[in-house]
Amino acid sequence: MKFKRVLLKLSGEALMGEQQYGIDPKRLEQYAKEIKKVVDEKVEVAIVIGAGNIFRGMQAGKMGIDRVQGDHMGMLATVINGMALQSALEGEGVYTRLMSGIQMDQVCEPFIRRRAVRHLEKGRVVIFGAGTGNPYFTTDSAASLRAVEIDADVVLKGTRVDGIYTADPEKDPNAEKIDELTFDEALQKNLKIMDLTAFTLCKENDLPIIVFDMNKPNNLFELMSGEQVGTIVS
Ligand code: UDP
Repeated sequence: MKFKRVLLKLSGEALMGEQQYGIDPKRLEQYAKEIKKVVDEKVEVAIVIGAGNIFRGMQAGKMGIDRVQGDHMGMLATVINGMALQSALEGEGVYTRLMSGIQMDQVCEPFIRRRAVRHLEKGRVVIFGAGTGNPYFTTDSAASLRAVEIDADVVLKGTRVDGIYTADPEKDPNAEKIDELTFDEALQKNLKIMDLTAFTLCKENDLPIIVFDMNKPNNLFELMSGEQVGTIVS
């Protein structure tokens, strides 16, 4: 396999599948099966999951809830998604640990870097919940941060498009796919790959990002097998 230790970022929205809200059990099962294929090849997999399918801090204002409170609600929602993904992976016979950036001992382990690395070394999939544990950040930033902390080889950003395009392919018919580019090129072209905090953390730590379509069957496995899948930023 191309990489030994990866940090897979999954957005909360991806878990909605065909639904308007919440978690689609079919999508969950599909993701668990895709992840199992690479775990079976001895790849160490850590996952950061978002919460756009349940709650985002930005929504809080409309409800008369302040931003910090809203961000905490968003972080708790990532733990809900993490628990669902954990169950789906266990259903496929994959050993997992859920670690949270906000302590909730009855539900999951606290995030302790050395312990997380140990779990990975033992072949367990580690799901990092509650983002960074801090408001005003995103789960993309949590993905970059945790990836650097556990010394991952790459951040795999699983999306519903098959890579980075010169323009939004869902809006512009002339948009062309880019196979690889540098961090500087991405910044110059103002390509929105991750928010700037997340992006900068990867750039400063020479941590490559691969954007790929997580919904395409077998795509994660093909990417890990060294095939040209998605777009690499390095
Ligand atoms: N969040 C936060 N700090 C973090 C990560 C997440 O406050 O370190 C909150 C924030 O309110 C965010 C929500 O959790 O809107 C869900 O995360 P995100 O929007 O990144 O989810 P995604 O877009 O990946 O589904």
